[in-house]
Amino acid sequence: MNKIPLVDLKANYLSIKTEIDNAIQEVIDNTAFIMGKYVRQFEENFANFCKAKHCIGCSNGTTAVHLALIASGAKKGDEVITVPNTFIATTECISYVGGKISFVDVEQDTALISIEQLEKSINPKTKAIIVVHLYGQMPDMKQIREIADDNDIFLIEDAAQAHAAEWNGHQPGFYGDIASYSFFPAKNLGCFGDGGAVVTNNDEIAGNLRLLVNHGRSTKYEHLIEGYNYRLDALQASILNAKLPHLKDWTELRRRHASFYNENIAKEIITPTELEGAKHVYYMYEIRSKNRDELMNYLNENGISCGIHYPIPLHLQPAYKNYDFKRTNFPVSEKLAKEILSIPIYPEISEEQKKYIVDKIKQFVYK
Ligand SMILES: *Cc1c(COP(=O)(O)O)cnc(C)c1O
Repeated sequence: MNKIPLVDLKANYLSIKTEIDNAIQEVIDNTAFIMGKYVRQFEENFANFCKAKHCIGCSNGTTAVHLALIASGAKKGDEVITVPNTFIATTECISYVGGKISFVDVEQDTALISIEQLEKSINPKTKAIIVVHLYGQMPDMKQIREIADDNDIFLIEDAAQAHAAEWNGHQPGFYGDIASYSFFPAKNLGCFGDGGAVVTNNDEIAGNLRLLVNHGRSTKYEHLIEGYNYRLDALQASILNAKLPHLKDWTELRRRHASFYNENIAKEIITPTELEGAKHVYYMYEIRSKNRDELMNYLNENGISCGIHYPIPLHLQPAYKNYDFKRTNFPVSEKLAKEILSIPIYPEISEEQKKYIVDKIKQFVYK
């Protein structure tokens, strides 16, 4: 058996090579590299896919979160609530707008925000909440929307890992005021470099962000406001246009692979919990073990690549030492960081590869 990667970007490319090659060639033939029709088409296509009114393409998932925070109106001194078990991009953007990071812990079963703790930590300084749809699963967004409404708080969904995920049949951007996406190559919808987008149903937010991503331009030479160069690259947009029609099938494959794992290793190891109401899209298939490091070494020795998302909770990162967070502040996040392990999952993974992975996990447990 060849080494099994955590994700197989080459296999994904080869599965639709002609479509992608043609899409890239068309952009080059038209030398339409900045904004223009490919970006516009993707924005339209992705908004339709998400059943959202507006999509604004941007340069990556981090600028997408930044744009969402600008839309929230959060400023210096405002608190923004999120979780410690996410990628640092989520919290970096809180700092970009001068906000204060306010962490709440997560649920052990899902690694998603604890709604009980969220409610407790809201105070008059709370301006926004960033809910992270970690591994591709959404928490009870209906309840979180109600909490946000009751407290007049802006609700952001960091959906970088959750393309096509749903809560009660609604994708990110429905319950939230805005949702941010990343199209980093390894994400469930990934381009061939950096890319991102926000989706929203709010016309005013959409209008503002559309200006902000492109230097505040109304026309080529008129700038209504100062903005950023946060544009989505047209080559990336064209690749995303070629890939988007396949996202539904790829998502179903991920879910099928996850079911296979669930059926075959749930007796041996802690497998992911899928909430009733959630459509989990398995950006990562995260298992848990008290002997995580040993298990990871064993799988690596047997040619199976693994990951840990994430090994150091953000409150314990050197980058945040000025905050004076303490070990034990967020015990569930800390416990999960020691036990979680991502095993290979991607649309193209074969039956043979899945069976091999399952066998090796069983061998480890019963050895
Ligand atoms: C990937 C990711 C981001 C950042 O996206 P980039 O495109 O890499 O900038 C933000 N938040 C989460 C949860 C992510 O997984």
